[in-house]
Amino acid sequence: MNVFPIYNILVVPDANIYIKTDTYEKVTGRSAVADDKLVIVVAKEDLKREEFASDSFYPIGLRATIAEVNSNGFIMLRTSNRVNIDDVAVYRDHTIDLTISRRNDINDLDPEEARRKLYSVKTAMMKFSESFQWGQAARGFIAQWNSIGEAAVVMSPWMLSSNSERYAVLAEDSVAKRTELLEKLIYENLEMNKVNREAEHAQEEDHQKIYRESAIRKQMEYLQRELDEMNPENVTDIRKLEIKIEESGMNETARKEADKVLSRLKHEGQGAESALLYDYLDFLAGLPWKKEKPKDISLDEAAKVLDEEHYGLKKVKERIIQQIAVMSLKRQQSGSILLFVGAPGTGKTSIGQSIAKALQREYVRVSLGGARDEADIRGHRRTYIGAMPGRIMDGISKCGVSNPVMVLDEVDKLYGSYNGDPASALLEVLDPEQNSTFTDHYLNVPYDLSNVLFICTANSLDSIPEPLLNRMEVIQFQGYTPIEKLQIAKRHLLPKAMRSVGLKDEQLSVTDEAIETIITDYTREGGVRGLKKRLETLCRTEAVELVRGGSSSLTVTPENLRDVLEDHPIPHRHVPENARPGVITGLAWTPVGGEILYIETLLTKGTGKLTITGRLGDVMKESAQIAVSLVKSVYPDKAELLEKNDLHIHVPDGATPKDGPSAGIALTSAIASLLNGTPVSPAVAMTGEVSLRGGVNPIGGLPEKLMAAQRAGVKKVFIPSDNIEDLRDVAEEVRSSLEIIPVKEVSEVLNALELKP
Ligand code: ADP
Repeated sequence: MNVFPIYNILVVPDANIYIKTDTYEKVTGRSAVADDKLVIVVAKEDLKREEFASDSFYPIGLRATIAEVNSNGFIMLRTSNRVNIDDVAVYRDHTIDLTISRRNDINDLDPEEARRKLYSVKTAMMKFSESFQWGQAARGFIAQWNSIGEAAVVMSPWMLSSNSERYAVLAEDSVAKRTELLEKLIYENLEMNKVNREAEHAQEEDHQKIYRESAIRKQMEYLQRELDEMNPENVTDIRKLEIKIEESGMNETARKEADKVLSRLKHEGQGAESALLYDYLDFLAGLPWKKEKPKDISLDEAAKVLDEEHYGLKKVKERIIQQIAVMSLKRQQSGSILLFVGAPGTGKTSIGQSIAKALQREYVRVSLGGARDEADIRGHRRTYIGAMPGRIMDGISKCGVSNPVMVLDEVDKLYGSYNGDPASALLEVLDPEQNSTFTDHYLNVPYDLSNVLFICTANSLDSIPEPLLNRMEVIQFQGYTPIEKLQIAKRHLLPKAMRSVGLKDEQLSVTDEAIETIITDYTREGGVRGLKKRLETLCRTEAVELVRGGSSSLTVTPENLRDVLEDHPIPHRHVPENARPGVITGLAWTPVGGEILYIETLLTKGTGKLTITGRLGDVMKESAQIAVSLVKSVYPDKAELLEKNDLHIHVPDGATPKDGPSAGIALTSAIASLLNGTPVSPAVAMTGEVSLRGGVNPIGGLPEKLMAAQRAGVKKVFIPSDNIEDLRDVAEEVRSSLEIIPVKEVSEVLNALELKP
C-alpha cells in the first residue's frame, strides 16, 4: 500500500478529488498510475517530504484509489472510507509505514434532510456563479453533484479555511455533524468571496447574516496575518498578544476571558492598569493548553533510569515501578499520589526528577515550605495590587507542558493562617475528582491538572493534616547505612562534584578510607546532603591546590583529610566507655534521622520533688512521671529514697526540643539504675513506650533509630516486641551488627540489666 500525505486541501469520504500530478510526484517520488491503492494521510505541518516525522500526521486519514490520470496535469483520486492511523513509522529513505484500521461513520443523517441541504447548497452555488462569466457553464456541472462533500471539495482550492478546520471535517464521526461542518465551510467561504468583491446584494436570510459576520471576522484575521507577515517589525505588542492567544490552543472559557481582558486592554491604552492586564494575558496565553499524548513506557527502561541515577532504595524503586506499570495499563494517571517521607538528603526530590526522566516527561519542583496562605497555592484575585498566580500554576507555566511530573516539596511545612488554609487548597489540587477544573484565583478560569503526576515530599508525617495524608500513599525513605553512603559517594556524589569544578578522573583520587572517615567523623545525618557538601568542598580545595601547586594529580587519604575540608570533625556521638548508675542510652527519631541520646538522673537532698530539664515536650514529661510511679511500684523498698530526695532527670543537648513517648523504657531503666546503684553499659540502648502497668508499647521510626545506634557503636538494643515487623525495613548490615532484643514488659528489660528488685 502506498501512502500519500497531503496538506491543506479538503478531503472527505466518497468524493472525487483532483490533485496536481507534480504535487503527487513530489511527495511520493513516483509517477501516478491508475488503480494505485493508496491512503491519503492528512499532514499537520507544511508539506515538505524530507521533514516528515511520525507526529506530522493527524490521527485520522482516508483510503483512496487513483481513478484517473489526466493528460492536463491532474490526477483524480476516488476516496472511500476513513481510517484510523494507529502508528506511523518514517524511515531514513523517506518511506513511510502505516498501521491503519477502519474508522466507521455514525450514519445519523436523514436522507430527506441530506437532499434538502444539498439542494440549498446547489442553489447558493448557482446564484454565486451567476456573477462570473463562466456561470452558465458551471450550472450543468453543479447540477451533477451528489453530495455536499463533493461540492465542498470542488470549492476547497479557494477556501480560506485553515488546515485544522479542514481536518475537523474529516475527524467528525457523525455524518450529520460532518454535513453541518461542510455547510458552514461552504457558506462561510461563499460569503467571504462576496465580501471580497464587495457584493452589494446581501442575502437577507437569517443564517446568512451569521455566516457573513463570521466570514468578515475570518477575512480580517486573514488580512491581518498577511499584514503581519509583510511587516513583522510593525507588529504591536497587543497584536503579538493576540497572536499568542490565538496560537495557545486555550479552551473556550479561557478564550472568552482572554477576549474580554484584551478588549479592556485596548480601551485602556497606556493607562495605569494596562501593564497588569498585559501581564495577565501574557501569563494566560503562555500556559501550556495543549494536551500531551501519553507515551508508551517500557518498564525495563524506566527501571534502568532509576538504577542509573540512584544507588540502593530498592523498595522505593519497586514501588515506583508498580506505579508506572499501573499508569501505563490504565493509560492515564493512577489515582494514588505518592508521598516520599524521610530525612533530608535521602534522595526524595532527586528521585522525583528521575521518575520524570523514566516517564519521558518534564520535571518541575514546587516548594511549599512556608506556604501559610491559601493564595500561595491558589493565587491572588486580580483585583489585588501585586496579584500573582499560585505556586501550582506558576510551576505549570515554568515547565511549559500540561503533563509534567510535579514534585511538591515539603508538604509538612504548610501552615494555616487567618487567610485560609493552604492545605485545603492543596487537597483540591490533588483530588482527581476536582483537579480537572482547578481554578487559580489569578487565572480566574479553570485549568486541567488531571494529567500532572504529583509527587509530594515531607520530612515527617506528624504535621501533615489528616485529610491530605489520606489522599496519599506513603513511601518511607529510611536513610542510608555507612556502606550505602560510601557507594553513593563513589558512584554519584564524588564524580558529580569533580565534574562541577572541572577536575578530571586522573587528577584526583579519594581513597575509600577517606570517604568513610568523612561519613563517620564529618557528618551526622540519615541522608547524604552533608556528605555531598563535604565532597564539594574537598574538590574545590583540591582544584585550587592543583592550579597553584602545579602537580598533576592529588590523592586524599584520612591523614590529609583535615587539610582539604574546611570544617572540624564533628565530636563523636560515640557511646562512652565507662558506665555510671542512673545514665541510660536512649534512641530518638527526629525529622533529620535517628539520634542517640542519654538520659541522666540524679538524686539530691530534698522532699520528693521531680525536676525535668532538657527542653522536653509534654508527652516526654508525662513519660517521666509514669516512669517514676512505675519504679516506685516495682521497688517498694526504694520508694522511700524518692520521697526523701529530689529526683532530677536531664536529657542533654538542650538546644534540641525533644518529645514523644518512646523514651519510656529508657526513663524507667535510668531511675531503676540510679536507685539500685547499678551502672548499665552505655553500649546498651533502648526504645519503647511504657504503660503505667509496665507494658511496652510500639514506637515509630525504628529503622532510623537502629541506624543511629549502629553509627554510635551501640551493641545491644531493646525494642518493643510489637515492632518486630519493622525489622524487615532495617538494612541487613545494621541488623547483623546489633543484638536486638524484643520485649513485652519493662520488667524484662530490668531483669536483663540485672536491676532486679
Ligand atoms: P531530599 O529531597 O530527600 O532532601 P535530595 O533528593 O535533594 O534529597 O538529595 C540530595 C542529594 O543527594 C542529591 O544530589 C541526590 O542526587 C543525592 N542522592 C540522594 N540519594 C541518592 C542515591 N541513593 N543515589 C545517588 N545520589 C543520591
